[in-house]
Amino acid sequence: MKYAIFLGAGASASCGAPVQNNLFKEYFKNRSNISRRHCFDADKMATFFCSQFGINVEEGNLDNVDFPTFEEVLGILDLALAKDESFRECGLASEDHNPSNSISQLRQMVVDLMAYTIYHQVNFVENKHKELIRSLDSNKLLDDCFFISTNYDILIDNAITDKGHSIDYGCHMVNHAFCVENEFNSNVKTIPLYKIHGSLNWLYCPTCNEMTLTCGKGAIDGEKKSCDTCKGLMQKIIIPPTYFKNFNNYFL
Ligand SMILES: [Zn+2]
Repeated sequence: MKYAIFLGAGASASCGAPVQNNLFKEYFKNRSNISRRHCFDADKMATFFCSQFGINVEEGNLDNVDFPTFEEVLGILDLALAKDESFRECGLASEDHNPSNSISQLRQMVVDLMAYTIYHQVNFVENKHKELIRSLDSNKLLDDCFFISTNYDILIDNAITDKGHSIDYGCHMVNHAFCVENEFNSNVKTIPLYKIHGSLNWLYCPTCNEMTLTCGKGAIDGEKKSCDTCKGLMQKIIIPPTYFKNFNNYFL
């Protein structure tokens, strides 16, 4: 490998993907259209934003509202979790009246919401990563490249697989062979792609301690998914930008 290509937020934003600052605004503007199968408690989110940021999402034109970034929202939640604190307002008590469970639920909701928003917006953008892969491939440089991405969206993943190549994420995926088409075709290249903040097409089973790939162009969108082996609830591997870096997951 001679060339490392680093893809940060700007790479996805150049394709029209939502930048972090606009994700909450997009959610609250479109929340009435979000299917009930998604587990977002709109009232809880609205109360949280009202009490912590003074934003009333029920009033006025949200286009003019300055929403906090994901770093700011997760920073508050992570700090509350680290210090075992709770929020006074919002009726945020969890069913078992454990404040930290309430904050954990809110944090999970925020991460799910981010997955949902990115998933639905990225489907409608022009994937300029395809041009990058096509150009590297036609100039016979692709074999010498590996990619590092901090983005959860799967724009670069789709660009690679659309050219018929497979991806080495640097960690074992239990269903990788099942997902790869033409694995034994000599023209198929395996391109290293290290997604250090996780990815929308990864799911982790904490019971089996295994990672699964959503095959094809599929990406998780905020819905709950069960493990095929143990039927337990699978977790998204999305480590959002936050002031408190998370190194808990072995696969990252
Ligand atoms: Zn499992």
